[in-house]
Amino acid sequence: MKTLDCIVIGGGPAGLMACNELGESVNYILLEKNDKVGKKLLLTGGKRCNITNNLPVKLFIDSLNIAHKRFLYPALTQFGPKDVIAFFNTRGLELELEQNFKYFPKTGKSQSVLDALLLGIPKERIHYKEPVKRITKVEDLYLVETELEQYQARDLIIAVGSNAYPTMGSSGDVLLFAKHLGIPYKPFTPAETYLFSDKVKTDYADLQGVALTTNLRINTDKKSHEGDILFTHFGVSGPLILHLSELIYERIEHEKVILYIELTEQDPIQIFNERRTTKDTIQTVLEELTTKRLAKKILELSQIENKRVSDMKKSEIQTLNQYLKAFDIPIDGVEVKEKAFVNAGGIDVKALSPQTMACLEYPGLHFVGESTDLQGPIGGFNITIALSTGKLAAKDVKERLSHHG
Ligand SMILES: Cc1cc2nc3c(=O)[nH]c(=O)nc-3n(C[C@H](O)[C@H](O)[C@H](O)COP(=O)(O)OP(=O)(O)OC[C@H]3O[C@@H](n4cnc5c(N)ncnc54)[C@H](O)[C@@H]3O)c2cc1C
Repeated sequence: MKTLDCIVIGGGPAGLMACNELGESVNYILLEKNDKVGKKLLLTGGKRCNITNNLPVKLFIDSLNIAHKRFLYPALTQFGPKDVIAFFNTRGLELELEQNFKYFPKTGKSQSVLDALLLGIPKERIHYKEPVKRITKVEDLYLVETELEQYQARDLIIAVGSNAYPTMGSSGDVLLFAKHLGIPYKPFTPAETYLFSDKVKTDYADLQGVALTTNLRINTDKKSHEGDILFTHFGVSGPLILHLSELIYERIEHEKVILYIELTEQDPIQIFNERRTTKDTIQTVLEELTTKRLAKKILELSQIENKRVSDMKKSEIQTLNQYLKAFDIPIDGVEVKEKAFVNAGGIDVKALSPQTMACLEYPGLHFVGESTDLQGPIGGFNITIALSTGKLAAKDVKERLSHHG
């Protein structure tokens, strides 16, 4: 059996960053299940990798859906978006700002992000094709069993990801480890994914490809959400939908969910009334308020015949106003967790220290990245969280080593 200072399990952004921080002073190895590290990282951002964004830490945290988002303060104040950019710059990788929000590598390739991370990890430390099967605590050491070997170390950094895109390696193994060790966790569920709608598939099939920036309300909620949505052949997608999918997944289990979207910011009742004195038709006004395709659809759905606005009944204006201000999209399902970009769930943060990412009950046992119940919307949040928590855990390992020698 090999004994080490620390074993990092999983070579995604969280595990790779942890290895970079451990550096030469720590006797560590990285156990990776695949024949390559960073398989999912290579896919990210359309293979261009949206590494981080330009939000200050407070805004970054405010943008997360999770209730326990403040847990991330210590990690992100020590290594937030600005530090991520600086880290890659020092590795010779320039980043470029897009849409005044997201950072991508200037090379346009996620491979260069992986290469920059690998610069800080000696090749011999990475053990490929060694999936960890079981973790046990034996006195003050952790015993790590793979199919090939047994290792032991006083510190572990578990960075095996969630259950999103299992073909990339993230097969949800963290939950098996947690169960075995008696550490609280939440099952993985979809976050950042598409929504299915039978009504979109049938009644709104001709809207496929329509993209719009809108205000959206869920059921009778007072709160509205602003962002971009896209009609697809199965339902709805787009950044706003991905962002809300996690919340909708929770609600759809116990209530019918209908999204109401605003097709125009203007006041349709006022506009129709103003046009009563003109020769304009309903369709012309609807096209001005929305788009040609949406105008046609609203006329069809409302069963109001196209005529001059001057000939409209009050009730017809009310009907069109309803479609324009609260176009309904009933939701029938959320894409499964395996096909979601990100998963909610993982190690319950109540079991972890926000200062170190270590388990409160098991000193030296760290959980980082998407293995934990910490996730964010698209826009570089998830890789930043993975890098930041991976680094924090590795710092703690070094700190502990300096005490124990
Ligand atoms: C298509 C797609 C696009 C995305 N785009 C972006 C983006 O542009 N920006 C962004 O911020 N986020 C993006 N994300 C999310 C982001 O990729 C993840 O949140 C991030 O990779 C999580 O990092 P991680 O290191 O925690 O886990 P992972 O990247 O999942 O890495 C886990 C590693 O652990 C290994 N492993 C698993 N089980 C074991 C085991 N038992 N033993 C040993 N090794 C094991 C896996 O093989 C893998 O290498 C995207 C996700 C997807 C699916």
